[in-house]
Amino acid sequence: MSLNKSMHPRNRYKDKPPDFAYLASKYPQFQQHVNTNMTGRAVVNFKEPEAVRALTCTLLKEDFGLTIEIPLERLIPTVPLRLNYIHWVEDLIDGQKQPRRGIDIGTGASCIYPLLGATMNGWYFLATEVDDICFDYATRNVEQNRLSDLVKVVKVPQKTLLMDALKEETEIVYDFCMCNPPFFANQLEAKGVNSRNARRPPPSSVNTGGVTEIMAEGGELEFVKRIIHDSLQLKKRLRWYSCMLGKKCSLAPLKEELRKQGVPKVTHTEFCQGRTMRWALAWSFYDDVTVPSPPSKKRKLEKVRKPLSFTLPEVALKELQVKARALGCTGRHPADAITSLLEKTLTELRVLHKGVPCQEGERSLHLTAVENTWLHGRQKRREQTRHLRELPRAPQGAAAATCAPPPRQDKQEEPSQESAAERVGESAAADTLATGGAGKEKVAGVEKRCASETGVPEDAAGELPLKEEHFLFKCLLNVLQEDSAAVVEMHWLQGDNKDLMNQLCTFLRNSLLRSVAKS
Ligand code: SAH
Repeated sequence: MSLNKSMHPRNRYKDKPPDFAYLASKYPQFQQHVNTNMTGRAVVNFKEPEAVRALTCTLLKEDFGLTIEIPLERLIPTVPLRLNYIHWVEDLIDGQKQPRRGIDIGTGASCIYPLLGATMNGWYFLATEVDDICFDYATRNVEQNRLSDLVKVVKVPQKTLLMDALKEETEIVYDFCMCNPPFFANQLEAKGVNSRNARRPPPSSVNTGGVTEIMAEGGELEFVKRIIHDSLQLKKRLRWYSCMLGKKCSLAPLKEELRKQGVPKVTHTEFCQGRTMRWALAWSFYDDVTVPSPPSKKRKLEKVRKPLSFTLPEVALKELQVKARALGCTGRHPADAITSLLEKTLTELRVLHKGVPCQEGERSLHLTAVENTWLHGRQKRREQTRHLRELPRAPQGAAAATCAPPPRQDKQEEPSQESAAERVGESAAADTLATGGAGKEKVAGVEKRCASETGVPEDAAGELPLKEEHFLFKCLLNVLQEDSAAVVEMHWLQGDNKDLMNQLCTFLRNSLLRSVAKS
């Protein structure tokens, strides 16, 4: 699912993702990496570093007039994510279109933050780097864009963060520092171990990045703690300290550290783009800074809380109650009748369910779907074909265990080549092959037609329920009385793909209404 809608409001790609076909027609270098998929759409294979690099260079040229060079063996930045961070810094320092002074810790070969900040807002930058190759490229990228007046790239020793870089300039107050730190503590973390739920979609693109770029002793947590430590000495030399985080779980311990150290102003945010999320933390020792609020939890919860629902009109209720009584249901409320019919269907579908206490006249079931048994053969085949065509890298486990359609992956989204799990590297290639096989087997498996009265596909019936630990999703199903009608609501609890709950909801509604139509 694309997170683009949650990009920073000023991000130019928020409602306008890059038009690959147009860019390909204009930039021959980029055209080489654009293919047309089965639906006629121009797509880029984000697993190829060359393609990612071509896209980044093309976007920087087309949208910012920047010409950059980056070696394949160093981190290739993605533009929408970098813009999200720049816009957030603007929010922190109120610095849109105003000359401000910032530090980019670890600027990379691209020198992307200083180049964007200087071009978009006329900001001055001190850009630090430890890696020789990155330093050389960054220096050249600044020069060839004639931004040397605004951006100064300095080579620093590994142990350094802010202290040494600022040693010589004792007077200047910087408005901010920003940093995209090396994320990983060790090779295991870099391979995605512990960083991603096994059921989450696989990385959609390749890992690029040299060792010092992606690994730091103690991972990002220690790296950022070192920045915090420097900031405790530098205090008001910078108005805002900020850092991006590759893992959400880094946020809490770092905030705790800032709290323990008595840092007065702390805030955080999240950057959403494509299928990748990042987090960022900022702190200040100034009392007069405006602190942008973190993303609203309430808004997100409301979004999550809004259930899927369907209404069963009074006429249908009567018949459903008759049907339920024939099945042995003795409850007097329509909710009882609907629930027993739903329970029958859920049992046939092998969707695990148990009653949850609720008020008189209402019924509530906790559902755990472990495999997709509700999608009909034709639909399933369609989904599978699309899956095999567009998504060669589904996680092996998920495809083999469930035969559910995988979450949609829009190839036009921001590639996510930089996350922990995105740096899985070569092992993903093995998955690709294995998944192709598993997927095909299931395609054959779903050829069978539906047979039973409720329309439950044959291949679901008669088998033992799968183990719950490998669930597709969990939800709460409520049956409520509303005036003379009844409403069935499905509240998302957890899982990977809400489309699956949507499908199940449609299936349950149809099975109830079909049984009414038949009688
Ligand atoms: N800012 C770039 C690169 C981020 S990768 C981008 O967003 O694309 C992290 C970078 O930090 C690498 O280039 C790495 O060489 C550099 N780095 C690692 N330790 C550092 C340190 N102590 N000081 C400065 N740079 C460092």
